[in-house]
Amino acid sequence: MSKHLVRIAGLKDGIHKQVFEIKDEFFEEYENSEVLSGEFCVIATVKINGEDRRITIKINGTVSNLLCDYCAKRIELPISITSNYLIKKSENKEESIDEIIFVQANQHQININQLIFEMVTFSIPYKRFHQEDGEISCGKQSLSLLDKYASKLKKIDSRWEVLKNIK
Ligand SMILES: [Zn+2]
Repeated sequence: MSKHLVRIAGLKDGIHKQVFEIKDEFFEEYENSEVLSGEFCVIATVKINGEDRRITIKINGTVSNLLCDYCAKRIELPISITSNYLIKKSENKEESIDEIIFVQANQHQININQLIFEMVTFSIPYKRFHQEDGEISCGKQSLSLLDKYASKLKKIDSRWEVLKNIK
């Protein structure tokens, strides 16, 4: 899988943006990944101010392989997340902890694959269902068809009402 590398060194003070597109292939490398299918736009913004380096990762997109908790049909789950990190130099090969990314003194790039994966995975809500303005909206289309059918039946009923009046 291709690495998504963000340049963090040899940059002038200011803001530097990089944009990546993430699709299904990205999740193939992660075993037991709940997310298998989706499309995301990842914007990595590196802010340099002398020694101070920060990175903001913004992810927008849709997870499309999950099923609705209520109707068990596929659901398109919109994802929109932003995380801010501080980049720190460290000579030891430490694991990056939340919000701080440790890099080697001579490191010029960061592979943000793991960050992207975690951000997408953690942003999936525990409960997923088809919704519209916060309301459950499973099978709204088929429900409206039922409504039509119901009103047809009502019309038939009213014909019988007419017959009743004849008596
Ligand atoms: Zn549903």
